Amino acid sequence: MGESDRDPYDVAIIGAGVCGASVARLLSRYRIRSALLEREEDVSFGTSKANSGIVHGGFHHSSEFLKTRLEVAGAARFDRLKEELGFPFERCGILVAATHPDELPAIEHLREQGIANGIRNLELCSRERMLELEPKLSPETCGGLYAPDGGIVESYRYVFALVENARANGTELLTGFEAVRATRSDGIWTVYAADGRSIRCRYAVNAAGLYADAVSAAFGAEQFTIKPRKGEYFLLDRLAAGHPSRVVFPVPNIVSKGMLVIPTVEGTTLIGPTADSGEDKGDLATTQGHLDRIVASARNLVPLVSEMDAITSFAGLRPVLGEDFLIAPSDLAEGLVQVAGIQSPGLTASPAIAEYVRDILAGLSLDLVEKADWNPRTDPPVRARLLDPERRAELVARDGAHGHIVCRCEEVSEAEIVEAIRHGHRTLDGIKFYTRAQMGRCQGGFCTYRIVRILMRETGMSFDEITKRGGASRVLGSELGGTP
Ligand SMILES: Cc1cc2nc3c(=O)[nH]c(=O)nc-3n(C[C@H](O)[C@H](O)[C@H](O)COP(=O)(O)OP(=O)(O)OC[C@H]3O[C@@H](n4cnc5c(N)ncnc54)[C@H](O)[C@@H]3O)c2cc1C
Repeated sequence: MGESDRDPYDVAIIGAGVCGASVARLLSRYRIRSALLEREEDVSFGTSKANSGIVHGGFHHSSEFLKTRLEVAGAARFDRLKEELGFPFERCGILVAATHPDELPAIEHLREQGIANGIRNLELCSRERMLELEPKLSPETCGGLYAPDGGIVESYRYVFALVENARANGTELLTGFEAVRATRSDGIWTVYAADGRSIRCRYAVNAAGLYADAVSAAFGAEQFTIKPRKGEYFLLDRLAAGHPSRVVFPVPNIVSKGMLVIPTVEGTTLIGPTADSGEDKGDLATTQGHLDRIVASARNLVPLVSEMDAITSFAGLRPVLGEDFLIAPSDLAEGLVQVAGIQSPGLTASPAIAEYVRDILAGLSLDLVEKADWNPRTDPPVRARLLDPERRAELVARDGAHGHIVCRCEEVSEAEIVEAIRHGHRTLDGIKFYTRAQMGRCQGGFCTYRIVRILMRETGMSFDEITKRGGASRVLGSELGGTP
């Protein structure tokens, strides 16, 4: 039976970043049929894979913005989500450090703003208290703000867990589905993909990130332009001396929250991001000049930061549409909900964005009846690195692949790679984000070849079908000759 012969989906969500994935997971709770449409080979390959990974503290912006109200509500949901889905998340706390007395009034303003937003436990700190909370701060620190509830999350593993849970509860995921055109007849949308596939749905959610403007146009809905604003980063090795125990912000400027020093949940350190507006939505290049600026700025906060500890650099693109999020039913395309311009703090706000979208859909007459058998839980994958010796021995006795370490830097076993593939991650990047293999100090120098071999064995793919991230990103060409 072709898709066009099947009953239409109740809701099609376009874009499997953190927003689309959160909406999909929440809607999987109800007795409706939903599809999550993603143009890439895997989920979380857009802005949701390259960001600071911070669950913000609710004090950076005023509550006149929708993004602030959703940030505060979203941040509060993370403990429960982690408990249900098992992704890496930690409330390590956030510090905003003033390194000049002129910055102290801005610190007070942030605290007042946070209190007005409903954040109760913000602490105005003396120099001594700041250094007690984070001894690696610059001796120039003259005071600051402490937000104990702020946290860090591994954003792609959060998205993977959301999608996995949504799928386990009935949501259908269609990857490689780039929505390019939509037509409406008798209250039903037909959404066409670039590769000729189509699906039908009653309602659609445009969560296409940087390309939400193109998707809106495809539905004949509002015309707007999403501009990319690039953020570049350096990632520092686990052993970096400049690794702080809390997120360290500078005093923000009018364009961004500034360049930070961020301890990741995996024990590495991120420094950045820059904030540079551009036109090219595919430009993820990093430049020496910008990286130099990042190091200088990070050292101003934490002097032990050194570029000698850098293991890689990368960039992410904020989808900018004015100052605030646009989350609303379209006035021009019936049944379409726009989720656009979701720049920072979109990751933090994502659980609340999903609730907001659900309520809009309910207001558009989508009948939402809870399933009696909805399962909120998804078990996290086994991590060889985190296993105690007894548990590891038990697993190895059952399956030797648990004892075969494929990625030495991140201590990822063959069993973990196989599990990633069995969960549908069939590109090198998909496997990297799911398992962390290729993410350590050698950046895949040791394990990439081994992963290619396992991928070929498990899927039957030939070596020239293996890609870094789908499409034309093949890693081995037949011109190399023979089988690897
Ligand atoms: C440098 C930087 C730092 C940030 N730091 C933080 C932070 O610390 N904390 C925080 O809360 N937020 C942060 N953010 C913001 C956060 O990352 C974003 O708000 C969030 O990831 C946006 O998610 P999304 O789902 O809207 O977009 P995306 O993750 O981009 O998802 C959109 C998806 O739609 C797909 N798509 C596009 N077009 C189509 C189509 N036609 N058909 C089908 N699929 C399509 C894309 O492939 C993509 O997967 C940061 C952002 C950047 C860039």
